[in-house]
Parts: sequence; structure tokens; C-alpha cells
Amino acid sequence: MPLELDFGPAAETFRTEVRAWLDVNKPAELVGVNADEAQRGQHPALSSWAKKLTEAGYMCVGWPKEYGGRGLTGVEVAVLNEEFARANVPRITRGMGEWLVGPSIIVWGTEEQTRRFLPRIVDGTDRYCQGFSEPDAGSDLASLKTRGVIDGEEVVITGQKVWTSGATEANMMFCLSRTDQDAPKHAGISYVLLPMFKEDKSSNGIELRPIRQPHGASHFTETFLTESRAPVDNIIGGMNNGWRVTMTTLGNERGGNATTQHVEFTKQFWAAVKMLQASGKTSDPLIRQELAWAYSHVEIMRFNGLKVLSEVIARKEPGPGASVNKMFWSEYAQKFSERMMNARGADAMLAANEPGQPFAVDRWTSMFFQHRSSTIWGGTAQVQRNIVGERVLGLPKEPGQKG
Ligand SMILES: Cc1cc2nc3c(=O)[nH]c(=O)nc-3n(C[C@H](O)[C@H](O)[C@H](O)COP(=O)(O)OP(=O)(O)OC[C@H]3O[C@@H](n4cnc5c(N)ncnc54)[C@H](O)[C@@H]3O)c2cc1C
Repeated sequence: MPLELDFGPAAETFRTEVRAWLDVNKPAELVGVNADEAQRGQHPALSSWAKKLTEAGYMCVGWPKEYGGRGLTGVEVAVLNEEFARANVPRITRGMGEWLVGPSIIVWGTEEQTRRFLPRIVDGTDRYCQGFSEPDAGSDLASLKTRGVIDGEEVVITGQKVWTSGATEANMMFCLSRTDQDAPKHAGISYVLLPMFKEDKSSNGIELRPIRQPHGASHFTETFLTESRAPVDNIIGGMNNGWRVTMTTLGNERGGNATTQHVEFTKQFWAAVKMLQASGKTSDPLIRQELAWAYSHVEIMRFNGLKVLSEVIARKEPGPGASVNKMFWSEYAQKFSERMMNARGADAMLAANEPGQPFAVDRWTSMFFQHRSSTIWGGTAQVQRNIVGERVLGLPKEPGQKG
């Protein structure tokens, strides 16, 4: 059994409250369903569960209460996640709205912006996608070329984005555009909350071309913006100050989940044990060795999460240490999914559907494909190493980079 930690009396009172609520309210049809699978596959019970969680105040729980959150501390969020994992039901979130753009609005938005945009994320009215990367601006994001031109009370955006995850389900994009062509590259960028549709529901000059992935699904798109309009009031953090806001968003993308990361990986680990037991493979010493490797890595992830949690309690920013988190979980997930494919042997090559149908993948093969990209999105493994080298270990900067 993993080492259990006592988070103190206040957290334990909160634990009792969450546990009692889940005992009464958890939907039987979602027991055992993984959050990611439920959200991607649009499980039929999902929307009523999301509604119930919203009404009970279990959505955007880390946000301040005045913006529709629950104002939970880092410790309480950790407890909440543990209890959802214990009840074995998915903890539905508002995705990028909750984890990326919402926290950036809280830090950088005006009072009026926080009141206008945040409640719409909490109740699910606004679903956001991230319009950052461009064909020639990925790791070097500040080289982006999408232009924003001010026209009266509006900013008019034209350019191309790529790898826009969840764009086909979104109605809003947090979009970076260059609003000062002459400023140094980090200084002329604005962070705009761009509606994807006009009031009459027609497209706001946005064309989405889905990119097909190896397992047949299309979770992201190439995104073409032609004179897409947003009110100037939708610029977060002020005109040409978008890089500062972007740093807050990327910090959350890399480190925001550090305290809770292990929860899904723990569930996945035990699902793997069950799957390998069912096929009689757990008596093989090599398979047992792989499982021991995986178990120890998930435990390290858990303890690193607690380390980040103590930083949060001490009110320090996780800072560049978030990159250690991103490197560790993404590289673990990639190796684990490869090792599970190997452990399954020939079974891993079988399609999960009837012959003659397009190749359908099961949970394990899907995970294998999915994690090929985990060391790319949110900053590549190489870029995380640069950050750790320069900002954590204090090594000299890359050649050509200014001090
Ligand atoms: C599944 C997935 C989902 C994504 N979702 C989104 C999204 O929703 N919105 C969005 O805006 N973007 C999204 N992205 C894009 C992602 O942020 C970029 O792919 C990533 O930042 C890398 O940029 P790039 O693809 O242009 O590669 P490049 O930056 O061209 O990198 C190519 C290679 O060069 C290496 N490299 C580059 N610079 C350096 C350096 N300085 N030092 C050492 N090595 C370096 C990289 O590590 C990489 O191996 C997604 C990507 C994936 C794979």
C-alpha cells in the first residue's frame, strides 16, 4: 500500500464532506471510466455528471469563490482528487478554460474581465482552445506572425495557427497575435479572447482543417484566421503585454497538475496489473520487473507532487521546477505505454473491432499513440531541458540567446 499522509484536521474534515457527497451522488455508469476517455468519447452520462458537479460547486475548485470557484487550497485540491480516485469516477473539469486561460485571466484580467469571462467557463458556456503555435513558431513561440490590427473598438486578427487541440468543440480561442510589428519580438504580442462565432452563429473568419492522427481520430486542427474580430476589451493583460500572460498560461500547462498528476497514472498502473493478470503474464519475471519500474515511477511522481504542494503552501511559485514535472511525467508515460505494448505481445497488434471495419484501437494502443505527443505539447522534452539547465541549474545560456 502507498504511504498515506495526514494533511491535517481541516483537510480531513473536507475529505469527509467530499466522500459523503460522492457516496450519494456518484453515477454508477461512470464508475471505472477514465476522465480523459469520458471527455474524449463524450460518454452519454457525462453532461449530467458535469451539471451535477457544477451545481455542487465541484468545478474550477481552485478558483476564488467570487469567480464561481470553490477557493480550495492546494491541499484540499489534492484531497478532492484522492477522493474522486477512491470513488473511481472521473473528475470532470472545464479543460483549458479551467487550467490555462481561467488562471491567466485571474492573474492578468481586469475586474470587469474576470466577472465577464470566468463564470462562463465554470458553467460550461465557453469552451476554449489554445491558438498559440504556428507553422514556424512552436518552441520559438515569440516568432509568431499572426497579425492583430486595431480597427476602432475591435482587434482584427489574420494568420495561421496549427495543432489547435479541441478546436472543433470550442466556441472561444485564447489567441496570440502580433499587434506591434516594429517592437522586439516578445514585446509586440497581445493575448486575445477570440469568439469563434459571430452573434448570428456564422464563423468569425475561422476555418478549421482537422489533422488526422494515427488512430484515426482528429483531436486538433490547422486553423486559418481571416479578419477574425474580437472587442479590444477582450485583450488580457493590456495591449502588447501578451507575453507576460503567455508565461502564466505555459507555467500552468507544465506545472499546474503537479500535485495531482499521479492520480490518473496510479489508476492506469492498477488497470495494467489487472489486464496482465487476466492474460496470465504477471508470473513472467520480466513483466514483473516492468511493473515494479512503473510503480516506483508513479510513487516518485506522487512525492514530487507533495514537494510542489509544500511550495504552494509556503506561497512560492513552482517556477521553472514545473519543467521537471513535465519532463518526468511525459517521459514516464511514453515509456510505460511502450512497455505495456511489449508486455501484451502479439495481442497489441489486434484491432479492437470486427474484421472489415476501420482499425479501432483499444485503451492501451490508444494510450501508446497518444503519448508519442506528450513529449512535444506544452513545450518539448528538449526545451524543458534547456529551461532546467539554464533556470534551475544555472548553466550558461544556449549560444545566440541573450542573457
Ligand atoms: C498533441 C499535441 C497537441 C497540441 N496542442 C496545441 C494547442 O492546443 N495549441 C497550440 O497552440 N499548440 C499545440 N500544440 C503544439 C505544440 O505546442 C508544439 O508542437 C510544440 O511547442 C513544439 O513546436 P513545433 O511542433 O513547432 O516543433 P519545433 O519547435 O519546430 O521543434 C522541432 C524539434 O526541434 C527541437 N528544438 C526546437 N528548439 C530547440 C532548442 N532551442 N533547443 C533544443 N531543441 C530544440 C524540439 O525539441 C523538437 O524536437 C500541440 C502539439 C501536440 C503534439
